[in-house]
Amino acid sequence: MIRQICVAACDFLSATSAMYFHPDKPWLVTAHLGNQITQLSRGNQGRRATHPLTPPLPPEPQLASSLLGEKDNEKEVDTKSAPVPTAESIYMSSLLGAEGTEEDVFLLPGTFSSRSTMEDPRVRPQKKFQLTEELLERLRGIVNEGDPMTKYTEFVKIGRGGFGTVYKAINPATGDVVALKKMPLRKRNRKELVVNEIQIMKENRHPNIVNYIDSYLVDEDLWLVMEYVDGGTLTSVLVRVFIEERVIAAISRECLKALAFLHSKNVIHRDVKSDNILLGMDGSVKLTDFGLCAQLTPERSTRCTVLGSPYWVAPEILKRKEYDTQVDIWALGIVAIEMLEGEPPYFKESPAQAQRLIAQNRYPPLRMPSKMSILFHAFLHSCLDINPSIRWTARELLEHPFLQTAVSLSVLPELIRVARKICQAIEALHATKASSENKQE
Ligand code: ATP
Repeated sequence: MIRQICVAACDFLSATSAMYFHPDKPWLVTAHLGNQITQLSRGNQGRRATHPLTPPLPPEPQLASSLLGEKDNEKEVDTKSAPVPTAESIYMSSLLGAEGTEEDVFLLPGTFSSRSTMEDPRVRPQKKFQLTEELLERLRGIVNEGDPMTKYTEFVKIGRGGFGTVYKAINPATGDVVALKKMPLRKRNRKELVVNEIQIMKENRHPNIVNYIDSYLVDEDLWLVMEYVDGGTLTSVLVRVFIEERVIAAISRECLKALAFLHSKNVIHRDVKSDNILLGMDGSVKLTDFGLCAQLTPERSTRCTVLGSPYWVAPEILKRKEYDTQVDIWALGIVAIEMLEGEPPYFKESPAQAQRLIAQNRYPPLRMPSKMSILFHAFLHSCLDINPSIRWTARELLEHPFLQTAVSLSVLPELIRVARKICQAIEALHATKASSENKQE
C-alpha cells in the first residue's frame, strides 16, 4: 500500500519535475559535453579528486615486466584494529533485537584502504599458509588446465585490489583483449570465497556483468580471465566529473538490471560500490568483483557473515541481523549518492566511525538535499530504507519513475574522456610542482 502511494506520488511528480533536473551546483567548474546534456567537472569540493586513496584512472598502463617472478605485496587485512566479538557479544547483540545500539555494531576492520573490501574480521589470517586438499580439488574441478601465461600475451598491469592484481592481455588466437586477475590463495582468509567468485561468475552471464572467460590454477595462484572493460571504474569518473541526475538514473538502471538478474538467481553480490562498477567506451555499465558474493538456497535463504566495504555496508549487516539480497540495494543507494556528491556518506570519518553512524542513523545525510529533484529523493529513500523488507527490490526499482528520466548511455564515453583529461591535468600539475620544489632544494 505504502509503495503504491509512493509510486502514484512519483508519477505525479515526474510530470512536473523538469525544473529539478538542473540544480545549481556552486562547487562546480565548467566542462561542456555536447548538445544532449551538460556535465560539469568537480572543483575543490569534489574532495575525492585529490584524496590519497583514490584509485588512479586506468589507462596509461605500466608494463608488467616482472610479472612471472613478481612477489605480490598485497596487505593482509589487519584484524588487530577491529574489535573481534566474542561468542557472548554476538549472542548479546542478537538478544538486543531490531533496534540496535552502538554496542551492537560489529565493525569491519578499517585498514589497507578505506575503499577496500573487507573479509569477515572474525577470521584471522592464517599464520602458516595452508590450502586444504578439498579446496584444491574443488578448484581443479572448475578451472581450465594449463597456464594463462602461455595462452595470453602482452600482459600489462592495470589495477590492484585487496585480493589480487589485474592485468590486461591479448588472446593471440582470437585477438580478444581480456582482463586477468591473479589471486594469491595464501593471502585469503576465507579461501572458499574464491571458489564462489569463479563458480558464480561462470554460471551467471548477463550484459551488465563482467563476464567470465577462463580460469587457471598455477601453483598457489588462481587466475581469473574475464572480459576487459575499457573505460575504467565508475569511481574514476565520479571523483573527477559531476554526474547529472539523468545520467545517475541511466547508470543506476544498468546496475539494477545486473542486480535484478543476480537476485533472481538468489545471488547476493555483497560488495556493490563504484569501484566495482566498470564503464565501457561503448556506453556499457558492468558490475564486477564477485569475490564476496553468496549463493542463497532454499535451505539457507539468509546470511549473517559480516562482510563488505565499510561505507557501503547495509545497517542490518552491521547490526548482525540475518540479511539477504536487499543489502545490495542499500549499497546501490550509496553508489547513487557517490555519483551525486563524489563520495559515499561519512567518507571523511574513519571506517569504524562511519559504520557506527550507518548503524545508528536511519538515513544517510545528504550535502544539499534542497538541490535534488523530488524524484531522486524518492529513489534514494526507496533504496535506503533502514528496514530491508520495506526497501524496494531490484525488480521494483527498475519500474521507479526516477529511472524514466534516464538519458541515453551514449553520454558515458564523453564523461570518461573528460575524467581522463582532468586526471592528466592534475598529474601534470603535481609533476610541475614536484620539479619546482626539487629545484628550490
Ligand atoms: P577490492 O579490494 O575492491 O576487492 P579486488 O582485489 O577484488 O579489489 P578488483 O576490484 O577486481 O580487485 O580489480 C582491481 C582493479 O582492476 C579495478 O579497480 C579495475 O581498475 C581493474 N579491473 C578489474 N577488472 C577489470 C576488467 N574486467 N576490465 C578492466 N579493468 C578491470
